[in-house]
Amino acid sequence: MSYIDEVKATVVARNGDQPEFLQAVDEVLTTIKPVVESDPKYKNNAILERITEPDRQIIFRVPWVDDKGVLRVNRGFRIQFNNAIGPYKGGLRLHPSVNLSIIKFLGFEQIFKNSLTGLPIGGGKGGSDFDPKGKSDNEIRAFCQSFMTELARHIGADTDVPAGDIGVGGREIGFLYGQYKRLKNVYEGVLTGKGLTYGGSLARTEATGYGLVYIVENMLESAGKSIKGKTVAISGSGNVAIYAAQKAAALGAKVVTMSDSNGWIYDPNGINLDVVRDIKEVKRGRIKEYADKVKSAEYHDSGKVWQVKCDVALPCATQNELDEADAKLLIKNKVSAVGEGANMPSTTEAINAFQKAGVLFMPAKAANAGGVAVSALEMSQNSQRLAWTFEEVDSKLKGIMKGIFDKASEAAAKYSKPTDYVAGANIAGFLKVAEAMIAQGV
Ligand code: NDP
Repeated sequence: MSYIDEVKATVVARNGDQPEFLQAVDEVLTTIKPVVESDPKYKNNAILERITEPDRQIIFRVPWVDDKGVLRVNRGFRIQFNNAIGPYKGGLRLHPSVNLSIIKFLGFEQIFKNSLTGLPIGGGKGGSDFDPKGKSDNEIRAFCQSFMTELARHIGADTDVPAGDIGVGGREIGFLYGQYKRLKNVYEGVLTGKGLTYGGSLARTEATGYGLVYIVENMLESAGKSIKGKTVAISGSGNVAIYAAQKAAALGAKVVTMSDSNGWIYDPNGINLDVVRDIKEVKRGRIKEYADKVKSAEYHDSGKVWQVKCDVALPCATQNELDEADAKLLIKNKVSAVGEGANMPSTTEAINAFQKAGVLFMPAKAANAGGVAVSALEMSQNSQRLAWTFEEVDSKLKGIMKGIFDKASEAAAKYSKPTDYVAGANIAGFLKVAEAMIAQGV
């Protein structure tokens, strides 16, 4: 049995009840095979055994009191996966589906994504099965304060720096930061995605969506194409989806779909983002309300956005939201490029179908790294006690996304096919972390 297969078998035996984590590990180990087999040092240093086992897994009780005075209990997680190249860094997710498998898959992917940015950040992830939907501000605050009461003892500006993810935006980061400060009596960049009045970075809110479109544009340009004039299908209507839509429209594309967990909208005239932002960012409503306000739009509560004919598809909602049947439909409708805004939104079969059909495919580790990259820029600004302009941060983001594209392309060309960005991103991300782990000993 090869070294890779041995490690895969061990990971399955140890984590058999964690399908999302196994899916993420299987993809990475399969694609880095040519590198790992090119040098015995990876096996001799047990790099794969070590990189697939988190440094630390923290699971804790989160008790809080709701508006009716009822005591509720959720489960909190923080997985500190790997700090070979910098402090643990990765978001916090609040969603009822959150469990150990999901947080571990996200933390594992974060190691390679953070490495690809070229910035000194390790991999981690956390969250809770708390459902923020329908909760009052008071309940959100009560939950966040309780969550941070435990988390605070495990994190720090040079130890572990959490950020937002699904269900965690500016409001939640504010409550979490306030509680951290109260407990520790230090004013430090322990969280990113902070408000602009207390250490946040300009362009952090936009960074993941903008970065996604920048790298998709890099990929299209390398094939002699451009996003200008293209029809774009986007799923989700949260942070990543909204700013991907904004940047795509600014570069001359027409975005025709968005969705939430209840359904999706199709607007052949191009989505009016002011309406979406008012529904989602201000009123915290449902995407269905868009079709009540905009006459040209249709709302569907079944099916998926992928049934709409488009040139570029940007899945920006959640894991495994685009399966093989969706991929085949997109291919039939002549999609030319796919960029993953969400983490692991395409199933393995869907990725294989896109690659087989010659569709340009940019995987999440590269495509959505703009968010964590600007988070790292927020950390730099915090430690220097400086605040850069929007244009400075946006221009650094653009440069970082181009750097990621170049690294993924070079590694793809060297070890696989020139456009195999899945292998390219995994390999380029892996090499730096593995070298650091070897240099630092066991
Ligand atoms: P938000 O909470 O802002 O938005 C998430 C969107 O996806 C909402 O429209 C939500 O709909 C939808 N969604 C969430 N879960 C599901 C589900 N199980 N089924 C269907 N729809 C769902 O999160 P973000 O935009 O921040 O995150 C989206 C994705 O991008 C995630 O995979 C996240 O890990 C990834 N990501 C985010 C980064 C960031 O900077 N924010 C950075 C890198 C990756 P509803 O409102 O109905 O739940």
